[in-house]
Amino acid sequence: MPEGRPAIPAELRRRVLVEAGHRCAIPTCRRHPVDIEHIDNWATVREHRFENLIALCPTCHRRKGNGTDQIDKKSLRQYKTNLGLLNHRYGDTERRLIEVFGNLLAKGKIPENRTIRMGIGSDLLLWYLMQDGYLETYRFRADETHPYELFRFTQSGIAFLRRWMAAQPLDLDSQRSNIDMPGIGSVGHSNGVPQPQPSPPSGGEEDWTATGLPNSDRSA
Ligand SMILES: [Zn+2]
Repeated sequence: MPEGRPAIPAELRRRVLVEAGHRCAIPTCRRHPVDIEHIDNWATVREHRFENLIALCPTCHRRKGNGTDQIDKKSLRQYKTNLGLLNHRYGDTERRLIEVFGNLLAKGKIPENRTIRMGIGSDLLLWYLMQDGYLETYRFRADETHPYELFRFTQSGIAFLRRWMAAQPLDLDSQRSNIDMPGIGSVGHSNGVPQPQPSPPSGGEEDWTATGLPNSDRSA
């Protein structure tokens, strides 16, 4: 530690780590372990303030800078702001979905319209993403043993994911929509009230589960 630089107080460290879920704050990275870094360099600010601190892995810390393929301070600030918004607005399942789907999308591993397979009742866990118009119920289905539900990101949801990956403002307040309570058959999606479809679908499409692996549609 440089001479004359006090340690970051434990409680402040804890807040910064919790903000980033104890992982690197860069959406395309999210590795751990991490350390707490100053966005504006310590040598300049000479203080530890929450607003100027961010959790970064060693690799992303080394990428901090203004050169090509580096992460500049403006981006770091936006990533931090976006983390705060996501934490405030969305639950664990939603944030995990944003993180994993967004990364697969950014790396070109899945198409934008890939459906996401979840158990019946998952709309409650994904409620705020749906309320914001970012995610919609695609259809209900069933395989030999279980009914399940397919979700997909809407066009505004895809734009939201791409803004998040690219350190752009997330603009959460512009996407509010009116949706009734979950799980009681009155969900106001753009394609109408979803109905269970127990019969085999026309087939040929893949859905995506929380394992991150595209699955062939078992009922096809
Ligand atoms: Zn990182």
